[in-house]
Amino acid sequence: MELIDGKQISNDIKAEIAAEVEKLLNTNSKVPHLAAVLVGEDPASQTYVASKEKSCHEVGFVSSLYKYPETISEAELLKVVDFINEDEEIDGFIVQLPLPKHISVDKIIERIKPSKDVDGFHPVNVGRMNIGLPSYISATPFGIVELLKRYKIETEGKHCVVLGRSNIVGTPISILMSRNTNPGNCTVTLCHSKTKNLKEICSQADILIVAIGKPEFVTEDMVKDGAVVIDVGIHRVESKLTKSGFKLIGDVKFDEVSKKCSFITPVPGGVGPMTIASLLLNTFKAAKKEVYK
Ligand code: NAP
Repeated sequence: MELIDGKQISNDIKAEIAAEVEKLLNTNSKVPHLAAVLVGEDPASQTYVASKEKSCHEVGFVSSLYKYPETISEAELLKVVDFINEDEEIDGFIVQLPLPKHISVDKIIERIKPSKDVDGFHPVNVGRMNIGLPSYISATPFGIVELLKRYKIETEGKHCVVLGRSNIVGTPISILMSRNTNPGNCTVTLCHSKTKNLKEICSQADILIVAIGKPEFVTEDMVKDGAVVIDVGIHRVESKLTKSGFKLIGDVKFDEVSKKCSFITPVPGGVGPMTIASLLLNTFKAAKKEVYK
């Protein structure tokens, strides 16, 4: 069994981007600029945005933060989006989710210019991805594809089972894995809470991608010998074995499943670290106008 080291791959990607930015600096060219909009005081969102800013600085991108109180109105936030859309200095931006309940996430996302939507959540980017046009692919599915590519995992003709059909993970990765691309060219089965014979289907998978949001749901009797297992789930649970009293686990029972796999992503250190690397890659694409000319 080989561990898929998302932390290492993410560091490799950052180093590659940093080298490209260095070249831009040497020619006095503009460096990519990523902005983030943060509303309210949600600690997880604050940590996530801080880590995006840190990563931008590490690779040499410009980063800016637009911070607003929880009480900002939807109309005011739409104006902020309009303002950033028109700021030519900013190549791409994200609006950190979740937003307060009085603001429609759909309205805000639809207002972002697709050419600056480096989170890949705008319906235009989702639609373009669906029909195979250049697009920004959202961070988690993009990260999974990048891991498969960099570990040279054979996907053509394989049976890929995706567990979970969320708009941010399960559905887009099922489409990407079925496309005529590499990685891709799989025969894909997409499972959800109404799927019958789940265990049977999972045990037929050559590649099993799990994004179900249930701690250690996938057990060894659901996995075929030699399968590739990608665990997207992330859960903080109590543990007597750690100093903090907590540990992170995934949607897959790692100890028993890993023994049967050819490749597996650990939690933490698998898919998670790829999120920010993917966002940086999308921002670089935006700066180079690779997706929207
Ligand atoms: P989500 O929106 O919570 O959706 C879960 C999906 O799993 C749904 O499609 C649901 O089916 C399905 N499901 C739930 N219980 C099931 C069962 N017993 N049998 C079969 N299918 C079942 O999922 P998500 O947002 O994709 O998140 C999934 C997990 O990934 C979470 O732990 C989340 O924290 C984690 N995550 C991690 C990252 C990362 O960067 N590592 C990024 C995103 C998410 P229905 O559609 O029928 O309800």
